[in-house]
Amino acid sequence: MNDAAEAGATLETIVSLAKRRGFVFPSAEIYGGFAAAYDYGPLGVEMRRQIRDLWWQAMVRDRNDIVGIEAAIITNPRVWQASGHLDTFHDPLIDCLNCQARLRADQIEDNTCPECGTVGRFTEQREFNLMLRTQVGPVEDESATAYLRPETAQGMFINFENVQQTTRKRLPFGIAQIGKSFRNEITTKQFIFRTREFEQMEMEFFCYPEDSLDWHTYWKKERLRWYYRLGIHPDRLRLRDHTPEELSHYSKATSDIEVQYRWGWGELEGIAHRGDFDLTQHARFSGKALTYFDPDRNEHILPHVVEPAVGVDRILLTLLFDAYAEETLENGEQRTVLHLAPEVAPAEVAVLPLSRNDQLVPTAKRVYDVIRPHFRTQYDDAQSIGRRYRRQDEIGTPLAVTVDFETIDDDAVTIRDRDTMEQIRVPIPELPDALRRRLEELRPHVPDHDEIAV
Ligand code: ATP
Repeated sequence: MNDAAEAGATLETIVSLAKRRGFVFPSAEIYGGFAAAYDYGPLGVEMRRQIRDLWWQAMVRDRNDIVGIEAAIITNPRVWQASGHLDTFHDPLIDCLNCQARLRADQIEDNTCPECGTVGRFTEQREFNLMLRTQVGPVEDESATAYLRPETAQGMFINFENVQQTTRKRLPFGIAQIGKSFRNEITTKQFIFRTREFEQMEMEFFCYPEDSLDWHTYWKKERLRWYYRLGIHPDRLRLRDHTPEELSHYSKATSDIEVQYRWGWGELEGIAHRGDFDLTQHARFSGKALTYFDPDRNEHILPHVVEPAVGVDRILLTLLFDAYAEETLENGEQRTVLHLAPEVAPAEVAVLPLSRNDQLVPTAKRVYDVIRPHFRTQYDDAQSIGRRYRRQDEIGTPLAVTVDFETIDDDAVTIRDRDTMEQIRVPIPELPDALRRRLEELRPHVPDHDEIAV
C-alpha cells in the first residue's frame, strides 16, 4: 500500500471514482448540476440498500423490543413548533465581506474566511433557520405554509401512543424509522457528507428514567459493533462524549461516533439522551398525556429516550473512504481497490468469461444463472480479462468467477479473491457453497457487546 492510501484518499479522488464507476453523480448534471444535490447511480443504490437493510436487520428484525414506522415527510407544522425546530433550529450565518461567501460562523477557524483567506472581515452574525418551507393546498397564504421534516425522529414521538397501544410493547422498547430529511444547510462543501436532502436512520428507545444512562452506554456499544460489522477500520472510529457546554439543555449525555476523514474527525452518528423533552413538548402542544401506563407499578410513567441517529449518505461516503486503496502489485502493476466488506459491496460476485468466445459465453451465462439467485452478482464480458479484474477491484467486488477454456472440459471455474488475488478451482455444482463459505470467511470480526470499551 502506498503512502496516499495509508493517509486516506482525498475527497477529489473519491468524488471522481464515485462518478466514473456509477456510485454517485452530480444531480441534474446535464443542466449544470444543482448545489449540494446528488443522484445515486447503479452501484450507489446497491450500497444504500445494503446499508439500510443491515441497519433494519440489526435494529428491528433481530430484536423483539424495537418496531418500525414510516411517518409523513410533510406533516402538521405544530409538530415543529412543539419540537422547537421552528424557533431554535438555526445555524449562525455570516458573509465574508471580501468574497461574499456564505459561511457558518461556528465553522470559521482563526477568524479567517475558508474561501479567500481574508482575516476578520465578516458581516454581523445572524440566525438562519434550516427548515425547508413549502406550501400545501391551492391557497398560498400563511395557513398553507408547511415544512419538510428536518429529522425523522419526531415521527416516532408523535406516534408513540399509537405504536405502544397497537403493539402492546412494554418499556423499554424502541421505534425505528428510515427516511429522507431536509435541511437548508449553509455550507455543503464535502460531497455527500452534508447535503440539503439526505436519508436518516433513527431509533427512539423509550425506557425508565432511572435506566436511561445505562441504555445510553448500551447503545454506544451496539452502534460501534454495527460499524465494525460494516468493516470500517476500528482505528478510524472513535466515540466522543459531548462536553457540558455542547449538550442540549434537556440532554444528560450525548456521544458522537466520529470517523477520521482526510480533513479530520467528523460526526458519523449521534447517540443522544433526549430525556423526556420530546414527549413533554408534544403532550403540552397536543393536549394528550403521552405517558406509559406501567401495569406492574400501576402508575403512569413519562419515559426517557435514547436516540442513535445516522445518515445513510454519510455512511456510504465513509465506506468509500475507508475501503479505498492504491496498491502496487508484485508484477509492478498499479491497481485501485475498494476493500469493502462483502455485505456492503455493490456486488458480491462477478462472473467473467475469459473472453467473448462462442464456447465460453454460454457457459459463463449458465454459471451466472446458477449463482445469481444466491448472491448480488454482476456479469461482464466486455474488454480484456485484466481490465475487467481491475474494474471489479475498483468497485469492491470481493470474488470473481472466471470461466476459461478448461471449464468446457472439466466443468470447473476459478474463484479469484479481490484482496489476496489468490485463485482456487471449483466444480460448477459446488460453486454456490464455495462462494458462500468464502464470503462468510471474509466477514469482518465483530467483538461481543461486553468486549467493547466505551
Ligand atoms: P451537524 O452538526 O454536522 O450539522 P447534526 O449534529 O445536526 O449534524 P443530527 O441532527 O444529530 O446532526 O443528525 C443525525 C445524523 O444525520 C448525523 O450524524 C448525520 O449522519 C446525518 N446528517 C445530519 N445532517 C446531514 C446532512 N445535512 N447531510 C447528510 N447527513 C446528515
